[in-house]
Amino acid sequence: MALKWSAVFTSRRQCLVKHICKQFMGTSGAAQHGDFADIVISGGGMVGAAMACALGNNSLLRDKRIVLLEAGKDTGEFILPEQFSNRTCALNPATVRLLSSFGSWQEIEGMRCFSALRMQVWESCADSIITFNNSDMSEPLAYIVENDVILAAIMKALKHVKNKVEIHYETKATAFNLPGSGDSEEAKLPYVKLTLNNGSVIKTKLLIGADGSNSAVRKAAGFQTINREYNQSGVVATLKLADGLSNTTAWQRFLPTGPIALLPISDTMSSLVWSTTREHAKNLQELSAESFVDAVNDALWHEREKNEIAGKLLGGFKNVLNNILPEDGEGVRQLPPTVIDVVDKSRASFPLALTHSSQYVRPRVALIGDAAHRIHPLAGQGVNLGFSDVSCLNEMLTKATSCGADPGALTHLLQYETERQRQNVPVMLTIDSLQRLYGTEFTPVVVARSLGLHAVHSLPFLKKMIMERASV
Ligand SMILES: Cc1cc2nc3c(=O)[nH]c(=O)nc-3n(C[C@H](O)[C@H](O)[C@H](O)COP(=O)(O)OP(=O)(O)OC[C@H]3O[C@@H](n4cnc5c(N)ncnc54)[C@H](O)[C@@H]3O)c2cc1C
Repeated sequence: MALKWSAVFTSRRQCLVKHICKQFMGTSGAAQHGDFADIVISGGGMVGAAMACALGNNSLLRDKRIVLLEAGKDTGEFILPEQFSNRTCALNPATVRLLSSFGSWQEIEGMRCFSALRMQVWESCADSIITFNNSDMSEPLAYIVENDVILAAIMKALKHVKNKVEIHYETKATAFNLPGSGDSEEAKLPYVKLTLNNGSVIKTKLLIGADGSNSAVRKAAGFQTINREYNQSGVVATLKLADGLSNTTAWQRFLPTGPIALLPISDTMSSLVWSTTREHAKNLQELSAESFVDAVNDALWHEREKNEIAGKLLGGFKNVLNNILPEDGEGVRQLPPTVIDVVDKSRASFPLALTHSSQYVRPRVALIGDAAHRIHPLAGQGVNLGFSDVSCLNEMLTKATSCGADPGALTHLLQYETERQRQNVPVMLTIDSLQRLYGTEFTPVVVARSLGLHAVHSLPFLKKMIMERASV
């Protein structure tokens, strides 16, 4: 399916601008009502909880009532397990800045995280590689952190925020009444009305949907989505590595069935994310531990038949570049680690798909995180984009509140949508294109991608641009 992003942008804008005039600019005294909250966040995953923290520390929202609804149970105080969790994320510097701003990064450092100083990406059909590292190798490219640790650190910081934030576990909206939708009198009310699964009702000036890729808020808002099923699953596991050099490199090899990635989580352990066909993913989960380890080593090490034409052209291209560009010692190919074991019961798999909501906002509603955009994990950007949504929406709400505007006013929400789509859409398109580009063994494509990858690898300014782009 061809993705018509530009069309989505334009029609969206025309349609939303019509709503601006209908905005109510504040409901005085409403915050005193027991069933009223100034802002409700639906979904207390990593992104929703971070949104609650950011709003909880926003001095302009003092005296506001902020409510976080989470469908899952309260798991109580988090005690760091000895065993690593199989779900990890590579966090970029922008995310670290956001988490530091409300003290969660310091909590993560006190628990467990590991730096990836270098990254090597290569493919099985040709000899092209690309490596990334900050020039002196002392600044991490990314931090690899378990999802449970990230969430626990955010929840801990949430206990110490300045403003009032209430968390309601095992609670979700079962009915939504959104202003601006339909012709009923209720639909014109200056608040969103939510009926919760416990029968109570809550009204709010702004509903933030952070309820994941299957978002109920997005569906209630009637936002169209662009979807692409990759027919792939991401197999995750915790791997033990053979003793060797320091484990500070993130590895990714593109195979015809999808990329396999190893992210360092300790000196001797790495977290696996292997995107592959659904059938293969199922087989991988059913293998004995020994056979699984063999399969991972084979995927990382086995020399597959190379595309001859791509090999010849790449050889010539390298000679040309070597004559005009200085040798880059940091970019040399390194050998991946050898996996010696997989942690018991650490294997799991997740279906992979692209989902993008054509709208992120409407009057009194905004989407953040996977509720707005779900992407392939090959670039490790999913939750980072979600955290950037949090920073941006918090900034827009600060602006709105500082000029006395209603937090649910569409004018500010539209600025949030424009800014985030400007960032998210190109990232999603790039990742989707990479997934397609490496999903074929068709010779002209193999040639084009090998030469392209090698060109980027050899041109430091291009690499720097890509690294800078991935870290904001
Ligand atoms: C294999 C794999 C590897 C990945 N690796 C990376 C990586 O390296 N780097 C990266 O940046 N991203 C990565 N991602 C993506 C990342 O995991 C997601 O982007 C991230 O988890 C999204 O967080 P979220 O809070 O938006 O949504 P979710 O994690 O889905 O959280 C949604 C929350 O809302 C709650 N909820 C659901 N419905 C309701 C409701 N109706 N009412 C109230 N609450 C509700 C749920 O219980 C949940 O707590 C990876 C993804 C996969 C599958």
